[in-house]
Amino acid sequence: MREELEVDVCVMGAGPVGGSLACRLASGGVRTVVIDRAPLAPMAHPAFDGRAYAIASGSRQLLRDSGLWDKLPEPANPILDIRVSDGRIGRPASPLFLHFDHREVGADAGPFGWMVEARGLRVALNAHMASLPLLRVLAPATARVARSAEGVVVDVADGPIVRCALVVAAEGRQSPLRQEAGIPVTRLGYDQTGIVCAVSHALPHNNVALEHFLPAGPFAALPMAPSADAREGGAPHVSAIVWTERTAMAERILALDDARFAREIARRLGDHLGAIQTVGRRWSYPLSAMLAHRYVDTRLALAGDAAHGIHPIAGQGLNLGFRDAIALADLTIEAVAAGQDVGSPALLNRYQRMRRPDNVAMLAMTDGLDRLFSSDNPTLRLARDVGIAAVHRMPRLKRLFMRRAMGLA
Ligand SMILES: Cc1cc2nc3c(=O)[nH]c(=O)nc-3n(C[C@H](O)[C@H](O)[C@H](O)COP(=O)(O)OP(=O)(O)OC[C@H]3O[C@@H](n4cnc5c(N)ncnc54)[C@H](O)[C@@H]3O)c2cc1C
Repeated sequence: MREELEVDVCVMGAGPVGGSLACRLASGGVRTVVIDRAPLAPMAHPAFDGRAYAIASGSRQLLRDSGLWDKLPEPANPILDIRVSDGRIGRPASPLFLHFDHREVGADAGPFGWMVEARGLRVALNAHMASLPLLRVLAPATARVARSAEGVVVDVADGPIVRCALVVAAEGRQSPLRQEAGIPVTRLGYDQTGIVCAVSHALPHNNVALEHFLPAGPFAALPMAPSADAREGGAPHVSAIVWTERTAMAERILALDDARFAREIARRLGDHLGAIQTVGRRWSYPLSAMLAHRYVDTRLALAGDAAHGIHPIAGQGLNLGFRDAIALADLTIEAVAAGQDVGSPALLNRYQRMRRPDNVAMLAMTDGLDRLFSSDNPTLRLARDVGIAAVHRMPRLKRLFMRRAMGLA
C-alpha cells in the first residue's frame, strides 16, 4: 500500500526560495510538502556554494516570520552604507561617486541589508524544515505532477502520493514544471561571468558595501562578519567579492595562482582596506537574465529563479524570490484561514499581478545598469557621470533608490 498525503500546497524545490516559502506556509497553518531532487545535507557544506547574499530588510522579515533568521549558524553582517563609484582598473575611482547612508532613509530606518552566506541559509533551512509539524520534507526525491482544475496529484518515486490544491515551482532557472506547463521565457545573455570569493583585509570595512563599476562589469566588495576563528588569530576583517568579467577574461583570471589572483583583486578594490588576502576557494557563475511570460497556470505558481533571473549587479535576485514567497504565502495563509481554494484562478492571478510588474522592473533596471556601466564608451561614461551627479542633487530620488534597495519601496 502506498502512503497517501492530503495537504494544501506542494513546493517543488527546497532552495532558498522554496525552502523559506515552505517554512512560512507551515508556520502560518498551511499543510505543506516540500520536495527537492537533491539530498539536502550536502547543500550545507562549505564546498557547495560560495555565494553570500545581500538580504534586504523586507526579505529579513520573511526569514524572521518563517523562523529561519534565528537559526542562521553565524550572525548576519549589517550593510550600513553603500558606496558606488565608476572607474578603470588600477586607477583611482572617478571623483563623482554616490554614497548611500542608511540614516538618510529615515530616523527609524535600519541597515540597507544583511550579508548572509548561502551555506548558512542552507544550514538554517535544513534544521528548521525538519522541525515544523505541518511540513513534510521529501529529499532526495523525484516526482510526476498531474494538474487539473479539480486538484494536483504528485506521484513521488519510491514515496507517497501527495494530493494538494496548489503546486509551486521553485526549482530554479531550469524549472521542469514551468517547461511542462509550456510557459515561454525570454532570455538575455551577457557574455559575463561572476567570480565569487572572500578576502580578508588589514583594515575594518565599517559595514560599507562597495560597488565599483569597471568597463568589463561591476566589482562589489560586501562586508561580512569576522570569520568564526577570528579570536584564535583568524580573519577579523572579511569581505565577500562579487566580480563580473567578460567570460574569456574570467577564465584566464580563474586560472591565476593565489598571489596573482589577489593582486588582480587589489587593483580593482583600491587600497582603502589595506593589504588583502584571499580566503578559501574561488567560484564562478555564468551570468544571464530570464523572465517567464506567465507566473501561473492551472493550480501552478512559479516563484524565485523559476520565474525570473537577473544580473547580480544589485544583489537583488534572491530578494525578488523572497518577495514572491511573501506574496504567495500571504495569499495562501489567508485563503486557508478562510476555508477557500488556495489553487483558484482568482488567487493565482492576484499573485501574478502582485509580483510580475515588480520583477520586470527590477530586471529592466539591472539589465540597463549593467549595459550602461559595463562600457568604456565615452558617451556612456558621460551619461552615467551626469546621472550620478543628478542623483546627488535630488535627495528624494536618492531616498527612493535606497528604499528600493532595502525592499521597502
Ligand atoms: C554570482 C551571484 C551572486 C548573487 N548574489 C545575490 C545577492 O547578493 N543577493 C540576492 O538577492 N541574490 C543574489 N544572487 C541570486 C540568487 O543566487 C538566486 O536568485 C537564488 O539562488 C534563487 O533561489 P531559488 O530558490 O529560486 O533557486 P535555486 O537556488 O536554484 O534552488 C532551486 C532548488 O530546487 C531544486 N530542484 C531543481 N530541480 C528540481 C526538480 N526537478 N525537482 C525538485 N527540486 C528541484 C534544487 O536542488 C535546488 O535546491 C546571486 C546570483 C549569482 C549568480
